Amino acid sequence: MFAAVEMAPRDPILGLNEAFNADTRTSKVNLGVGVYYDDNGKIPLLAAVKAAEKARLEAMPPRGYQPIEGPVAYNQAVQNLLFGTDSELTAAGRVVTAQALGGTGALKIGGDFLKRLNPSAKVYISDPSWENHRALFEAAGFEVENYPYYDAATRGVNFAGMKSFLLGLDAGSIIILHACCHNPTGADLSDAQWAEVVEVCRERGLVPFLDMAYQGFAEGIAQDAVAVNLFSASGLQFFVSSSFSKSFSLYGERVGALSIVTASKEEAARVLSQLKRVIRTNYSNPPIHGGAVVAAVLGSSELRQMWEDELAGMRDRIRTMRSGLVDAIKAQGVAQDFSFVIQQRGMFSYTGLSAAQVERLKEEFGIYAVSTGRICLAALNSKNIGAVAEAIAQVVKA
Ligand code: PMP
Repeated sequence: MFAAVEMAPRDPILGLNEAFNADTRTSKVNLGVGVYYDDNGKIPLLAAVKAAEKARLEAMPPRGYQPIEGPVAYNQAVQNLLFGTDSELTAAGRVVTAQALGGTGALKIGGDFLKRLNPSAKVYISDPSWENHRALFEAAGFEVENYPYYDAATRGVNFAGMKSFLLGLDAGSIIILHACCHNPTGADLSDAQWAEVVEVCRERGLVPFLDMAYQGFAEGIAQDAVAVNLFSASGLQFFVSSSFSKSFSLYGERVGALSIVTASKEEAARVLSQLKRVIRTNYSNPPIHGGAVVAAVLGSSELRQMWEDELAGMRDRIRTMRSGLVDAIKAQGVAQDFSFVIQQRGMFSYTGLSAAQVERLKEEFGIYAVSTGRICLAALNSKNIGAVAEAIAQVVKA
């Protein structure tokens, strides 16, 4: 039965992790991952999460099935973070939110729902994008193309190219937009550029799908929701996938959500009914634990404050690593200006290192990065940053 099954290509980042794990050098550093590590190189268990988990453990609640779209308390908490507590959209009942299996699961159910809704639409993702965007929407049956995004010359966004491309798209085209902390480049749109994108979507009748996997990692919870706010104010209908993997350090619990902004409460009810069919045939209903922990933290003013402080701590540590890396590379006598790393936002930086330089980092120094030159700043810490800067200096100088 399986004689003709071909070996699937290895996931490039997971492949990198395997190579890293097999490396016996004690000085090795893995900058290829998309995970936040603390200064000791550990994935943190947030104190707010710990407190909520302890309370849950003590309460020992029963483990019945959840509603297909997840519990009301969780979905409302998601809406408050994305749309704000004083949102007219949520007050009017126009937003459908369903708990999902992480941000990936949210994109998956959103993709499946869109395929039923508009089977002949094309999906457009940024060039470059998180590699799973293409795979997820192709798996949902869509043709996926790139829109211009990153400008290697300025290490920022080629906004003119992006905008003119979007203006040429057919009505109904689905565009996936990174709401903040663009993965993999770290280059985000300005608020004014977001406002222009909203107008292009209106003018061309595009279907915006915002992917918010890093809320709180750029400026803060409210500040990072600027794209969602602008789309909300526009009166357009749109999708938002969101994730707590990073912001709650709950990667393996698979906690995320899909939110869909509709035209009316009545429309929202119909959309939810169809979305529930998609979920039912995928995994029936979401798991309890991670979502319950998030809802408990966000539902308690004390735990919420604790979480926001911890999130700010993660954000600040990454920023410190950004400026520390730039300074340390400079101190090595490198003429090339790396200060763009400070401007980039979120966990990642497109360093501009070539595939050959990345290979040298691995071979000679045991420093692992993605071949595109993407590094995860959250994997740097006070102990390894000096060695990383030295190694980068070596490969860019020679
Ligand atoms: N979107 C983007 C842009 C991401 O970087 C990620 C995580 N790497 C996700 C979605 C998926 O998040 P999750 O781990 O919650 O599925």
